Amino acid sequence: MTIRTQSKAIGTAPNPNPERRWSNELSRGRVPGPRLPQQRIVGDEAGFGTVCVHAGTYEDEATGAAAGTIFQTTTFRFSNNSYESFSQGITRDVPIYTRYGNPNQWVVQEKIATLERAESCCVMSSGMAAIFATLLAVTNRGGHIVSAYDVYGGTYDLLKEIHQLGRSVSFVEPTSISDIENAITKDTQVLYFETLSNPLLKAIPLDELGKLARSRNVLLVVDNTFLSPLYCTPITHGADLVIHSGTKYLNGHSDLVAGAVSGSRKYIDRIWQQSLRTGGTLDPTACFMFERGLKTLEVRMLRQTENAEGLAAFLDGHPCVSRVHYPTVKDYPYPWVEQYCKGGYGGLLSFEVVGGDEAAMRLVERLRLPALATSLGGVESLVSLPFNTSHSALTLAQRTRIGIMPGLVRFSVGIEHLQDLVDDLDSALRASQESQP
Ligand SMILES: *Cc1c(COP(=O)(O)O)cnc(C)c1O
Repeated sequence: MTIRTQSKAIGTAPNPNPERRWSNELSRGRVPGPRLPQQRIVGDEAGFGTVCVHAGTYEDEATGAAAGTIFQTTTFRFSNNSYESFSQGITRDVPIYTRYGNPNQWVVQEKIATLERAESCCVMSSGMAAIFATLLAVTNRGGHIVSAYDVYGGTYDLLKEIHQLGRSVSFVEPTSISDIENAITKDTQVLYFETLSNPLLKAIPLDELGKLARSRNVLLVVDNTFLSPLYCTPITHGADLVIHSGTKYLNGHSDLVAGAVSGSRKYIDRIWQQSLRTGGTLDPTACFMFERGLKTLEVRMLRQTENAEGLAAFLDGHPCVSRVHYPTVKDYPYPWVEQYCKGGYGGLLSFEVVGGDEAAMRLVERLRLPALATSLGGVESLVSLPFNTSHSALTLAQRTRIGIMPGLVRFSVGIEHLQDLVDDLDSALRASQESQP
């Protein structure tokens, strides 16, 4: 395992030969980063938990601070390198102005890029900021996108409106490789899918999608929010770009809104440029908190997954539950999920309560531990009802058609003691079956 602080400065190294272009020094588009010489770089062979804790850490030589440093500044003193980067239009690797880049962003980016097996990463002010900048950067006017009708609600809304920016979209069934292939046209530039869908945990044919993207010369963009890089690294399955709502598992404490996109330096530079225009930069202190959250990603995710598996098994046999949606239950309909998930499926599950939406309402009112709230991925369990939140715009018939059946409850499992969650759910489920006075 190699852990090192870079010996050669990128961006701050003195230029030994002023005749040579600064961009050649950097071999722009080919180096990972941006990185500062004070950042820890962790080799690919390191274990997941080691990367979570150490990758990207800023080592402050002056103080030896173990927990990093917050660079709460909007701007940085000019250096020769900043002037050179201006004159050559290359400003991503030099601290100049925080909308362009800040060491705290670079710390988080280095960590996420290492976790996702990517050359480079760009963090942004929300998952949607990352999705918007990405789609705008890797398509152009007249371009076509193939995606799923049941992607995350905010993404669906963006895709529905993106025709205003001259892009068109086909929505297909994300589990069917032939539907996806048939939707590709000569104008298609991007395939956009999620590693597990919300709230039914549908799995995509990820490896076939990677091959399809390659053979049709289009980019595969994958939202990996639900699985996190602990269970899936889409780039190793052929994805070009991986998106996260950092708000969910990556930060994991329901106290920060952030987004990230990772991939080759070539594409991330382009996306970064797009994000400069829309201003979706992530504040330095938010980056510092994001880094802190990421350090415990593995331990949180392992516990959430263990709890989710336990709850899924408990619910699967429960007389008040008609169906459980989670990859470990016996009638899970997408067995190919095992091809790209290694070791687990994360902390989100959903289930149908006997008695439909009214029983589900009674259930969530009786639960004591989980808050009734949207969002997911935090250390605290959260529960929500798709019929009156994420999918409330659909009619009952439309919901049924996409598989959102009456009584569906979405449960984001936290790191609480499993038996406490089981007991809470058990008594609330029984109470849900009593009809209202
Ligand atoms: C929450 C979420 C998003 C959007 O992220 P924000 O940080 O809320 O902007 C995108 N994709 C998925 C799968 C999500 O769960």
